[in-house]
Amino acid sequence: MKKGKIIILSGPSGVGKGTINKELAKDNSLNLTQSISMTTRAARPGEVDGVNYFFVDRSTFKDAIEHDELIEYAEFIGNFYGTPRKYLYDKIENGENVVLEIEVTGATQILKKEESSKLVSIFLMPPNLKQLENRLRNRGTENEEVIKQRLDKALLEIPLKHKYQYVITIDSVEDAVEKVKEVLTKEDTLEKDWKTSKYYKLNEDVKKIITDQYMFLVDNWKDNVIHLDNFKDIKSFNFLEYLINFLTEKIYKFVLAHEELKSLENFNKVKSYAEKFMLDFNFFTIEQE
Ligand code: 5GP
Repeated sequence: MKKGKIIILSGPSGVGKGTINKELAKDNSLNLTQSISMTTRAARPGEVDGVNYFFVDRSTFKDAIEHDELIEYAEFIGNFYGTPRKYLYDKIENGENVVLEIEVTGATQILKKEESSKLVSIFLMPPNLKQLENRLRNRGTENEEVIKQRLDKALLEIPLKHKYQYVITIDSVEDAVEKVKEVLTKEDTLEKDWKTSKYYKLNEDVKKIITDQYMFLVDNWKDNVIHLDNFKDIKSFNFLEYLINFLTEKIYKFVLAHEELKSLENFNKVKSYAEKFMLDFNFFTIEQE
């Protein structure tokens, strides 16, 4: 049986992680389970112990840390939050994908500890900061001081989004949910064949664009690089495939972060992105990132 994956969903407080997560949970075909965190924060009205969080006091939380019961933990504006280890690993062994809706410090601990093949990490972004502020205020669950602290925290978290594999901007809940599902398909976390993902189709389109119109560039690149002394593995290096994969990855991530998902299906748009990102490519080194 295929093991499940850890799906990390992060993003500033108020971005709408919970809303996206609830929508994802409705789709049984995704085989998702929610991790239930432990926290020292007080329950908000309507929150239930053992459902939204395990609400505990500080000494219980400290005990859990000391007994190594948490796979990660962090302090967030005066309260502690952590992910219980056993529940997570049991579910993964059982083939379920476990969603962790957590902040950046804790996510970073998991990204360092776990093999990347066991993870899918996504950072959810607001379309702009005004919208984030409005959402935090309209939630009406926190006082002014806490709203300010959460906004300050957002400004510290957003610049760390590059630590995640994917950044998805929530322009609409519907589009963002589709984007997350697309990423899960691409990352082969679902029962569906990953070749049904838009990523796969995009890769085919980029291949067509390059092989039809830009082989002169690939050949020219190869001719130049072949003469460089430090390029020892020239025989095994596939220039065409490397360029296609580089451009596919760039376009895919750009669309998730800045455009509607359906842009990936528009061949002319894909072509214009490919041409734009080709200019970013440094043809004299393969160390791009
Ligand atoms: P809230 O108080 O709004 O429920 O959560 C505050 C922040 O803590 C959110 O960004 C939420 O995603 C994050 N969080 C919730 N559970 C955990 C956890 O187990 N570990 C970490 N590191 N962050 C968490």
